Amino acid sequence: MSASYDVIVLGSGPGGYVAAIRCAQLGLKTAIVERENLGGICLNWGCIPTKAMLRSAEIFHYMQHAGDYGLVAKGIEADLDAIVKRSRGVAKQLNQGISHLMKKNKITVHMGEGRVTGANSLTVKSDPGSGSGAGKGEEALTAKHIIVATGARARDLPFAPADGKRVWTYRHAMTPTELPEKLLVIGSGAIGIEFASFYNDLGSEVTVVEMLDRIVPVEDADVSTFLEKSLRKQGINIMTGAGVEDVKVTPKGITATIKDKSGSSAATDFTHVIVAIGIVPNTEDIGLESLAEMDRGFIQIDPYGRTKTKGLWAIGDCTPGPWLAHKASHEGVTCAEAIAQELGNKDAHPHPLNRNAIPGCTYCHPQVASVGLTEAKAKEAGREIKVGNFPFIGNGKAIALGEAEGFIKTIFDAKTGELLGAHMVGAEVTELIQGYTVGKVLETTEAELLQTVFPHPTLSEMMHESVLDAYGRAIHF
Ligand SMILES: Cc1cc2nc3c(=O)[nH]c(=O)nc-3n(C[C@H](O)[C@H](O)[C@H](O)COP(=O)(O)OP(=O)(O)OC[C@H]3O[C@@H](n4cnc5c(N)ncnc54)[C@H](O)[C@@H]3O)c2cc1C
Repeated sequence: MSASYDVIVLGSGPGGYVAAIRCAQLGLKTAIVERENLGGICLNWGCIPTKAMLRSAEIFHYMQHAGDYGLVAKGIEADLDAIVKRSRGVAKQLNQGISHLMKKNKITVHMGEGRVTGANSLTVKSDPGSGSGAGKGEEALTAKHIIVATGARARDLPFAPADGKRVWTYRHAMTPTELPEKLLVIGSGAIGIEFASFYNDLGSEVTVVEMLDRIVPVEDADVSTFLEKSLRKQGINIMTGAGVEDVKVTPKGITATIKDKSGSSAATDFTHVIVAIGIVPNTEDIGLESLAEMDRGFIQIDPYGRTKTKGLWAIGDCTPGPWLAHKASHEGVTCAEAIAQELGNKDAHPHPLNRNAIPGCTYCHPQVASVGLTEAKAKEAGREIKVGNFPFIGNGKAIALGEAEGFIKTIFDAKTGELLGAHMVGAEVTELIQGYTVGKVLETTEAELLQTVFPHPTLSEMMHESVLDAYGRAIHF
């Protein structure tokens, strides 16, 4: 007889495992199905291991600039194997943490490849080599509700399929066996820029090619301009408005044909290439063809995660973006609460995701963080705006830290004072952005922010100053 649950979650990334925990908290008999590692991409191959690597690069960078702080550091070297080992160790620790959380919340874990076979049923193949159809190595499960949280994988360039030797996806870039001498990074979104920053800090010669006219193209244009200047100063070669037309693997690396801004193409040799041009949802061959509506492979959902089939839900990277861990987790909670409500729990009050208040962060140095509308998007939306800007050089803490590079920009609706967006580049801004995110969720206006007391000396004072500047009242600049 097949095991039966209230909810089965397919995929255990930050969408899936969080949804499963919330379901269990709400008293639902819950199972999770995972084919690879508990914790998904985020803990094992994404957010966390990259941050561990970037931390090593950051410390290496500081050690090289020890003299700026009155310190002497000699014979500084980066040990790539040790950096990778530490990063993998951090990932393993968190993966084990998820295993513990599953046990603690009495969530049954089925390890294997899951496939939806109906609105309320799925199979799990624990031994992918055992053939199709129920039988050895295949388990049939049923549930009142199924949440699909299968995430996404790196998009390949058709003419440059990843081989793990010279042509890397993010997974290969996280487990290098050698430091690329001359690295090409295709794509300047958060993932591309983080790897460019990491390898540049470690001593690789890095070129970033971006098809659009600026790097980190989802960010405010002022942030892109500032970051590009800063990365160039650090030695990264950046080509915007440029496209990689071909990649040929050679005995010593790769030869890439790159069309530059002016339209002329040239072949350049690199030792390695990281392809960071986006993601493809893991939604093929999991039985959704007739059950869910798809757009370019992404499962279409309502604000609570419902698909077109009753009882079948979807969350996270396999649904429309932004493709971020915290967005996946938030959707997981909303979806779990909506299911509990459908199952009669009167205390469950699901809140759909507020799409205007999802922060985004890039952990290069200087860091980038933002929430809400960019200046261009606010204008496009027909808003009359007030904009404030404050540079890091005007902040005492930033100067004391030796981190005087960057700025904070805030955008308000000129008529209502609504905080429309905030955009930051500089040290630790990925920690600061949450202040504005809370403000946005609380529907703050300039009035509350102007009256808020910010502790001194902190980088957060720049948030206050930026708001003051929007109203012509900045004190320190
Ligand atoms: C290099 C890199 C850095 C990143 N950095 C950040 C960051 O700093 N901040 C941030 O917010 N986001 C970051 N992301 C994005 C983040 O990792 C994803 O948004 C997040 O992991 C999505 O969560 P998810 O639960 O939707 O899917 P995933 O984390 O992709 O998890 C899906 C899980 O489903 C499993 N699965 C798929 N199909 C099946 C099946 N048929 N049967 C069983 N199991 C299946 C997969 O094995 C996987 O474990 C980064 C991504 C990468 C690649």
